[in-house]
Amino acid sequence: MSYPTQPTASHFINGQYVEDTAGTPIDVIYPATGEKIATVYSATPAIIAQALDAAKSAQSAWAKMSGTERGRILRRAADLMRERNHDLSVLETFDTGKPYQETIAVDATSGADALEYFGGMAATLTGEHIQLGEDWVYTRREALGVCVGIGAWNYPTQIACWKGAPALACGNAMVFKPSETTPLCALKVAEILVEAGLPAGIYNVIQGMGDVGAALVTDDRVDKVSLTGSVPTGKKVYAAAAAGIKHVTMELGGKSPMIVFEDADIENAVGGAILGNFYSSGQVCSNGTRVFVHKSIKEAFLKRLSERLDTAVIGDPQIEETNFGPMVSERQLEIALGYVEKGKTEGARLVYGGNRLDRGGFYMQPTVFADVKDDMVIAREEIFGPVMAVLDFDDEDDVMTRANDTEFGLAAGVFTKDLSRAHRVAANFEAGTCFINSYNDAPVEAPFGGSKNSGVGRENSKAAINYYSQLKSVYVRMGDVEAPF
Ligand code: NAD
Repeated sequence: MSYPTQPTASHFINGQYVEDTAGTPIDVIYPATGEKIATVYSATPAIIAQALDAAKSAQSAWAKMSGTERGRILRRAADLMRERNHDLSVLETFDTGKPYQETIAVDATSGADALEYFGGMAATLTGEHIQLGEDWVYTRREALGVCVGIGAWNYPTQIACWKGAPALACGNAMVFKPSETTPLCALKVAEILVEAGLPAGIYNVIQGMGDVGAALVTDDRVDKVSLTGSVPTGKKVYAAAAAGIKHVTMELGGKSPMIVFEDADIENAVGGAILGNFYSSGQVCSNGTRVFVHKSIKEAFLKRLSERLDTAVIGDPQIEETNFGPMVSERQLEIALGYVEKGKTEGARLVYGGNRLDRGGFYMQPTVFADVKDDMVIAREEIFGPVMAVLDFDDEDDVMTRANDTEFGLAAGVFTKDLSRAHRVAANFEAGTCFINSYNDAPVEAPFGGSKNSGVGRENSKAAINYYSQLKSVYVRMGDVEAPF
């Protein structure tokens, strides 16, 4: 199969595509059919060194450019991404299996938002002046150096941009390793950045599995690591980065709560639960997969949920009408189906779906369990598939304690018409991103990230600048130096 946007080689280093077939081949599988659509080759030690050397030697000249100049390039790249949204979305759909209806609205566009936002911010990045009597201190906001980005497979274009845009705005260079499951899209991001005028070596993409990621994290040339991935991988990468005292951003997994109170607008709550469980076939880190519904409205909620799930258009993700596609891989599908079996065995009530679909590719039905108990495995572990757990409650204090009783702290949502309760609940959530009468919005202007085991650091917003730059203080004495001897 070929398509117009297919990248021409496995890696993108020093401003151009680079191939090295000595690396382990990685098949790229189209999730809607199971067909192989491309092969990339894992980075060999020579490719890893080439990418890091390119980044290291290009970075200081990039940091010395004015923020306005750097920002102009990022904003030009944002424009190119928007112009090519269709082709990029087709590629994203081949890479991930997510419906084109989603990718055309979310992926390259949110990548472009990040490039535009941080492009605009680049010229505003400054230190400060601190007067100390006659003497004074000024601070310089400086780049960290070479940043490594390591991506998950659910949002390959977005992740490549959410990490790249702030890193580059601050004057860093980046070596990005996409997930081995979705290696294609980040290459297009690199290609577009260079076309927009990015100097060679500032944004490089190399392929590989966890071993390539691990080699990058421990390399002395690397100053910062930003990972999007699971908690177990995060623990390994965080520890490896700590050994080299490297800066980190960790965007990890979640098992987020969504609380639906008795006064909630049921249509909106059901809509939020659908967005927070079935968008991208449930493969979204911030999903609200523990849906606590007040006992008095539980059956009404489940009825409307089932009715609306009946209208899902499941099928070929390249067709614009399709709004529920396959899972990313056979492995991920098996993991999700395994959890469905666990849910049944543990005695949860299966109210919708639960099966693999009888067609090619990696499709399963949107699935809903009701009467889920807090200690069931499907209520405790991240499934990362279209499996919703509905739990009952009747008291706010009790549901708050239960909602927070998790190792994760990525996101949380509340549906209620009671204004005070909405803000009280949001304040009490132990999570990095909360939603009131909404779910899963992620505008570039708002900080995004997790608390507890869901991560450290924030992406997007002004806050991301703190994770891609460091302050240098310069003390300036205006008079003589007074020394004791
Ligand atoms: P994963 O942890 O298996 O892999 C993530 C990336 O880390 C991949 O590129 C992988 O090759 C790399 N990797 C694996 N072992 C490594 C090691 N020892 N050293 C360095 N790199 C290593 O995750 P996944 O299955 O690709 O993605 C799904 C997970 O990502 C879910 O847990 C999901 O919640 C999380 N996620 C989080 C966010 C967020 O922003 N918080 C966003 C998307 C996905």
